[in-house]
Amino acid sequence: MNFTQFNLDSRLMVGIKKAGYETATPIQEAAIPAALRGRDIIGTAQTGTGKTAAFVLPILNRLLSGPRGAARALIVTPTRELADQIHDVVRVLSAGTKLKSATIYGGVGAAPQIQALRNGAEILVACPGRLLDLIAQGHAKMNQIEVLVLDEADRMFDMGFLPDVKRIIAAVPKQRQTMLFSATFPMEVEQLAAQSLMHPQKIAMGISRPAYTVSHALYPVPQHLKSALLIELLKHTDTNSVLIFTRTRRRAEKVQKQIKAAGFNVTALHSDRTQGQRQAALKGFKEGRHDIMVATDIAARGLDVESISHVINYDMPDTADAYIHRIGRTGRAQKTGDAFTLVTSEDEDLIKKLERIMGAPFKRETIEGFDYTVPAPPRPAGTIRGRGISRVEGRRERPAPTPKSYGKNRLAPRRPKR
Ligand code: AMP
Repeated sequence: MNFTQFNLDSRLMVGIKKAGYETATPIQEAAIPAALRGRDIIGTAQTGTGKTAAFVLPILNRLLSGPRGAARALIVTPTRELADQIHDVVRVLSAGTKLKSATIYGGVGAAPQIQALRNGAEILVACPGRLLDLIAQGHAKMNQIEVLVLDEADRMFDMGFLPDVKRIIAAVPKQRQTMLFSATFPMEVEQLAAQSLMHPQKIAMGISRPAYTVSHALYPVPQHLKSALLIELLKHTDTNSVLIFTRTRRRAEKVQKQIKAAGFNVTALHSDRTQGQRQAALKGFKEGRHDIMVATDIAARGLDVESISHVINYDMPDTADAYIHRIGRTGRAQKTGDAFTLVTSEDEDLIKKLERIMGAPFKRETIEGFDYTVPAPPRPAGTIRGRGISRVEGRRERPAPTPKSYGKNRLAPRRPKR
């Protein structure tokens, strides 16, 4: 479907052209007409489907008529990176209009945000905490909000933002259009949807399984050899840009340092870093100045980075949904991608579940010449001996399985990178 068929205001065609969109994606085909009619929408869609433009275009179309100089559309999103990403889409698509927009989030000075509100920004892309602060201080006025978007609602719930989100909903007028997007619908998100939307149209772009363009492989490895194996894997694999996920911020930092020491050009994205560092990391990775980025789930959720060739799970995520989200960062838009997961014996249950979802067993790979028999170093002081619980990481660790269980070496090394 062509964008001219939506009967959008002609000024929006400037931005659509600038964005390089020619035909609408399935979620845009489904959501744009309903949103233009003013319907509330529940969208089950993950990033990569074109969902941002699916709600931004109807918002811009609506705001082109009516008063100017007051906040009329509010997009609430869990992370600052997502807020920046959505704001970039708003800016490009509104290029042919004089509509003003602003991001509102913590970790950076409030003064420019307050100034943007004073200047009459009509579209706000906000994270909950700072927005509530600016509402409380009287800088952000919600009384003219006509459209509310709750993006990544499940992640806002996971991050404990639901009470904040409810306060924001209470601050905007009851008479409004609401669009809620969520990849999954835990009970709390269902309840939020029931309380905040009126007769919503449901639009599902299923994420029941990951893209077919991604190939998956497991690398069984004892916990203590994960970093060594990761570095071997990076050396033996022809990669373009690699996103590595760890379970905690501390591990992200540790793994980044180890990879750096091995001579790779790597950055890290997690919430222990300052906002400036996070922005620089993401920009450097997007622009190809860093080949590798190590991230936690929360920081990297929904990021739209083109041409990630490999996603590597240094740690298996906690849920199948999280796995699907992570590897959704590669193999986008018909490009192929590889997902590698370093697994320990603890991960077997989730692997079985994922294999059921994928409908096929994962390949289990080993790296030729890698010594899987190196014993674990003695535990550092401060860990609880004999119970397999490390205080440092707070995670139960089982003894490493014997190398026999890994089968024979099957990974034919690809062209070494450097
Ligand atoms: P999103 O799911 O909103 O994060 O979008 C994922 C990517 O798809 C972004 O890089 C968008 O610029 C791109 N995109 C969105 N809509 C279209 C479209 N109709 N045609 C081509 N690319 C699109």
